[in-house]
Amino acid sequence: MLIVDGHLDLANNALRGERDQRLAVAALRERERGADESRGICTVTLPELRRGGVAVVVSTLLARCKPWLDPARSIKRTSIDYVDETMSFAAAQGELAYYRLLQQQGELRVLESARQLDEHVERWSGGATKQVGVILTMEGADPIVEPEQVRTWHAQGLRTLMLAHFGRSRFAAGTPSTDPDEAHDVDGPLTGLGYALLKEMEQLEMPLDLSHSSDQSFFCAIDAFGGTVYSSHATCRALVAENWGVHPMRLHTDEQLRLLVRREGVIGVTMFNAHLQEGYKPPPESDPDSVTLQTVGVHVDHICQLAGSARHVAIGSDLDGGFGCEHTPRGLDTIADLARIGPVLSDRGFSDEDIGRFLGGNWLAFWRGNLPDR
Ligand SMILES: [Zn+2]
Repeated sequence: MLIVDGHLDLANNALRGERDQRLAVAALRERERGADESRGICTVTLPELRRGGVAVVVSTLLARCKPWLDPARSIKRTSIDYVDETMSFAAAQGELAYYRLLQQQGELRVLESARQLDEHVERWSGGATKQVGVILTMEGADPIVEPEQVRTWHAQGLRTLMLAHFGRSRFAAGTPSTDPDEAHDVDGPLTGLGYALLKEMEQLEMPLDLSHSSDQSFFCAIDAFGGTVYSSHATCRALVAENWGVHPMRLHTDEQLRLLVRREGVIGVTMFNAHLQEGYKPPPESDPDSVTLQTVGVHVDHICQLAGSARHVAIGSDLDGGFGCEHTPRGLDTIADLARIGPVLSDRGFSDEDIGRFLGGNWLAFWRGNLPDR
């Protein structure tokens, strides 16, 4: 079974988390034993992706710009927040360089066209390659210095982006964090720069990822943007309203999900307990086994019911997105366990064909249609 994961932060974990993606998960867990728990227990590396049959991932360039921060107080060396866009640009170029170096070393292959994707899937399925295919995205557009510069990024391999991440970017309002000190984390519309960037993206035929948009920015963008929209990593607000560490706007309302489906989008479901189960609290405050792969199945089912088919839901695990296996559903110790969701969906009445769509087929069809032909 070929698996595709719609959202990981491989380079960011390497550059900001000192995680060598070429090592085994067990080796990184050993290395990080006793580390500050905010880093989370490691679940993702390239050998682990190979072991789990994950042939293609969409992985980020991630560096935010927050000019209002006080460098003396709020910025640590490993922070992803920079005080201006020149620095965000350079930091994200560093992440791009990391992917390119690992490509030269034969560890992964950056996929830039539908033809390359098809070739890659054929070689992976036939056992001719074990390189992980990577489609490059940007989690928040701050590294794009001015809207026209997205053309340079596109020429360098970037194929999609989110306008903002947590909090405000120069282009849009991202999903607010739950940090009470973050006065800039409010709902809001796109900025002038945001609208200008969407125009450039339309010309480049780059799909827009709405997973981190605040509500107002979501609706502004979906109205203004003529291209393809989708959501790489989120779950359903109808099932989880507000949770430990999660602002409600991080998850999509039914109306938003329906709009994404109507525009031929795909929604990637995250494997983060706080996105999956209402009332979730970190252990030891709650039973770590209270969230299971069945809980993932409930969100998958909800999206399928809204969509009227199983053609719009997929995996967007986010498994290296600032949490570790202490916050993943029971049965999902590392990314190599994603295939275990299959039997859970089978118990819910999904056909083998639909399970294959969820695990990889829907993303493959989406990217075949939304990458340049060659
Ligand atoms: Zn994210």
